[in-house]
Amino acid sequence: MKTIIIGGVAGGASAAARLRRLSENHEILIIEKGPYISFANCGLPYFMGGDIKDKNDLILQTPMSFYKRFNIDVRTNTFAHSVNAKENTLLLKNLLTGEEYTEKYDNLILSPGALPVKPQIKGIEKAFTLRTIPDTEKILEEIKARNAKTAIIVGGGYIGTEIGENLSLKGLRVKIIELGDHIVPTLDFEMAAEVQAYVRKKGIELFLNSKVTEITDNGVMLGSGEEKADIVIMSAGVRPDTDFLRDSAVNLTSKGLIKVDDRMRTNIPIIYAVGDAAQVSNFVTGQESFIPLAGPANKQGRIAADNICGLKSSYKGTQGSSVIKLFDMTAATTGISETAAKKAGLNFDKTYTYSMSHASYYPGAKGMSLKLLWERDTHKILGAQIAGFDGVDKRMDVIAAVIRLGGNVSDLTELELCYAPPFGSAKEAVNMAGFTAENVITEKVKQFFWNEVDCLPRDGSVFLLDVRTEKEVKSGSIEGFVNIPLDSLRSKMAEIPRDKPVYIHCHSGLRSYIACMMLKEHTQVCYNLAGGYRLYQIAKNEMISGDYPCYTK
Ligand code: FAD
Repeated sequence: MKTIIIGGVAGGASAAARLRRLSENHEILIIEKGPYISFANCGLPYFMGGDIKDKNDLILQTPMSFYKRFNIDVRTNTFAHSVNAKENTLLLKNLLTGEEYTEKYDNLILSPGALPVKPQIKGIEKAFTLRTIPDTEKILEEIKARNAKTAIIVGGGYIGTEIGENLSLKGLRVKIIELGDHIVPTLDFEMAAEVQAYVRKKGIELFLNSKVTEITDNGVMLGSGEEKADIVIMSAGVRPDTDFLRDSAVNLTSKGLIKVDDRMRTNIPIIYAVGDAAQVSNFVTGQESFIPLAGPANKQGRIAADNICGLKSSYKGTQGSSVIKLFDMTAATTGISETAAKKAGLNFDKTYTYSMSHASYYPGAKGMSLKLLWERDTHKILGAQIAGFDGVDKRMDVIAAVIRLGGNVSDLTELELCYAPPFGSAKEAVNMAGFTAENVITEKVKQFFWNEVDCLPRDGSVFLLDVRTEKEVKSGSIEGFVNIPLDSLRSKMAEIPRDKPVYIHCHSGLRSYIACMMLKEHTQVCYNLAGGYRLYQIAKNEMISGDYPCYTK
């Protein structure tokens, strides 16, 4: 039995190693067009920035080590030109010698990954892209050769912002140009606003809602004119690297993704596909999706190998758990965003909480902002986003696990998580998100949101209340809100009208929630600003476009 694997990195290498562990009798051949297999593409930005000093640290296996340990034949610099699914053969080309030959397979695993998108704009050949170790070396050589001081990154997704961070740490002045209204598009606008405010402080210039129309000798052309830089790196997303399959009988989507079933089988039962190039179902919505991430690619590689060996493993979908470090900040997501929930037509609700990374009395506690989305009818958790500085990944992993197990908001309240002052809080950030969501579901509190604040009437028909301290108010306030600090509220109850809706805010949403509870019997109805003044202010400062009705310019 001979299995050929196209692509020797995340999905391909994982499939090969699992196949060998399951069967000593298989003949396994990996075909890789690049010079390396099993390299850490996720580590490339850090090699660029200098955190990873030796390129060899990025290479987890070599053809020789794979052969020695797993008895796997690895052919690097070899391009799989085409698949002949009738004859079960591949046409291969040795990229060093030009020699072409065919190989026959009993099973084929396709793990060709994804290519950086190169928009059809003038001068595109002048821009660099990042996918491989040689790509990274080319960028580093160019920086050195030109003594580059400035860089433009086109695209503010995960990879683009990571490149931006690393070049900035290397001492370059970095500009990120993004077509959308915010960077890191898996975050919603207001959560990305936290990240943007921080990376700006770190010296990265952001150009949002900006389209690059040309790569020039000195930078890029935008609608507003030429933006100059010594090097331009295109990081405008990825697309499946499946052009070589166009004339094969393997079914592809219109976007070039390979269609697979839950056992990673294509329409041709002996051909499997895994990783970035395979279409997956979104674990939360069930919709067919393109979610290129390393964890799913590795898991799918293992599943394809299992099925070839007769184990009936299945893949249940990708939920998009991802995390990014930007200087000292961490942002993480799992499940779907509010934008995606709206697109999928889901009936959802949301909360924002602001918690400390560990007990606030123990030195070094840092705040983190957490957004939680759940389905209104079932209370099932749909997704979460966190931006903060410490312990973000751990909270996100907990929520990711709850989503994977089909959990709901109450499950978050019940989780018993490790606690000692240096590590967390007795009422953990994840528990707090659950408590807050439960308060909303059980209608203990009604919420209003950052993008609704400026739409509230200022004609006296509602009462706008700010329960922060006088000192806090001095450093910034929202027009029309009357300040009565929370601790004076009981004694000043008479100043709050009984016959009008009351909208309350504090800094983070906690004191205003307490105020709502105090006023329960006093007022007609009370609304709490979810995320508080903090989130409102950060998001409003990042507002550019007219997407949010009250902020149209
Ligand atoms: P790949 O790992 O890309 O491997 C595909 C291989 O197939 C390539 O080496 C390619 O040369 C080869 N190939 C393609 N076509 C052919 C052919 N016709 N013949 C022969 N060989 C072929 N994901 C995360 O989850 N977290 C991260 O932090 C993260 N950071 C990233 C940073 C960067 C800079 C990049 C580029 C990606 C990052 N990713 C990250 C994405 C992650 O690397 C991919 O999701 C994962 O590698 C996909 O695995 P794969 O096997 O599908 O494709």
